[in-house]
Amino acid sequence: MQDSCCCDKHTPIIECVDATLGYDNQTVLSGLNFQIFPGDYVSIVGENGSGKSTLMKTMLGLIRPLRGEIKINCAKGSGCIGYLPQMSEMQRDFPATVREVIMTGLLNRKGWLPFFSRKEKQQAAHVMERLRITDLAGRSYRELSGGQQQRVLLARSLLAAHEILMLDEPITGLDPAAAAELYETLRSLNREDGMTIIMVTHDVGSAVVNSSKILHVSGESIFFGTTAKYMASEESKLFFPPDE
Ligand code: ADP
Repeated sequence: MQDSCCCDKHTPIIECVDATLGYDNQTVLSGLNFQIFPGDYVSIVGENGSGKSTLMKTMLGLIRPLRGEIKINCAKGSGCIGYLPQMSEMQRDFPATVREVIMTGLLNRKGWLPFFSRKEKQQAAHVMERLRITDLAGRSYRELSGGQQQRVLLARSLLAAHEILMLDEPITGLDPAAAAELYETLRSLNREDGMTIIMVTHDVGSAVVNSSKILHVSGESIFFGTTAKYMASEESKLFFPPDE
């Protein structure tokens, strides 16, 4: 977020070519082909166990495709990706101030240098301002509401990397007002800052309202395309059954 994106918007930032994903000898997804461009907002939907997390882990470089490849066309590879995992109970109870939690987003970049530079502190301040949490900076993280905590973790991810933001079920545990606010923030990061957003979600209704593209995975049936084309597809009937 703090520097401009290093990527050309006409070149796919993530490219999946004939990929088969899974574990050891268990294939989870096969025949996967898609291209994600800078500025896309992609929601990954599908039933439980269909392979959404496996796909996310592969894009993050945590596991390798069994066949084919997923290319990250960005100078820092998967280091271009800010990742917001599902919030765990341990994360909710983290004993640190908001500023400290956000600054941990820089740890991977720093190596063993013990202090944060002035530039890094300015970057953190900019991200906090962008997410409207500057007034929370000195507060204890564990005392915040779920929605505020999610906003802080989002700021942390943005500080870690600013080309692509990947989120795994980000509204889990949030009340409807906090969820709506998070969606609004993501829309604004996407439209105003040009961030590429890739989100695994169960909330298919909101996905089709907010995203520009849908990746639907379900056994043999995979759909990738614009939201409008998705709504006209066979695959969407799983979540939006036609009227009898
Ligand atoms: P989703 O995120 O859509 O619910 P997952 O990607 O978590 O689906 O799981 C897809 C399949 O991969 C499931 O059958 C699951 O049991 C299997 N799976 C998930 N993680 C592992 C793992 N670490 N080792 C082996 N199999 C796994």
